Amino acid sequence: MKPVLALVGRPNVGKSTLFNRLTQTRDAIVADYAGLTRDRHYGNGRQGRREFIVIDTGGFEPTAETGIYKEMANQTRQAVAEADAVIFVVDARAGLSAQDHDIANYLRKLGKPCVLTANKAEGMQEGAQLAEFYELGLGEVLPVSAAHGQGLRTLVDQALEPL
Ligand code: GDP
Ligand code: MG
Repeated sequence: MKPVLALVGRPNVGKSTLFNRLTQTRDAIVADYAGLTRDRHYGNGRQGRREFIVIDTGGFEPTAETGIYKEMANQTRQAVAEADAVIFVVDARAGLSAQDHDIANYLRKLGKPCVLTANKAEGMQEGAQLAEFYELGLGEVLPVSAAHGQGLRTLVDQALEPL
């Protein structure tokens, strides 16, 4: 079985852009994988000889009580349950938010391998602006730019490394 990576993060941080970068073909593979549900957005990824599956998710609001947000949170929890590792995406430009803290708390309790990824980091000085994300207690922060295709090789390497 290929390892499964779930993209998790609040809305608008660039998960779907990242998904499109990491996957060449989409929605092609679900039928072959027992345990994966059809109502999420799956794609095939490949780096060198390693193949993997990526799950895109709607924005995650772990504390959402109602409506669409509750449904998105449920979808994300299920995606995370299916995944072997999580790519937690935050927005390097917007900075740390309360929602990021909520998601980090959820992921820490879960204990699955998790790579903390600061997207939209193109053209940014690494040190200063990313330092605040260490508060999330998930270790190293990896700067990437999904839109510009920067840092993605390292991201995939790190996500697959423990698997
Ligand atoms: P999602 O809601 O997390 O799936 O985020 P989207 O992938 O839909 O992206 C949200 C917005 O962020 C869009 O306007 C994207 O064009 C923009 N975006 C995504 N990745 C990057 C990036 O690497 N750099 C910049 N500057 N913008 C990005
Ligand atoms: Mg999206």
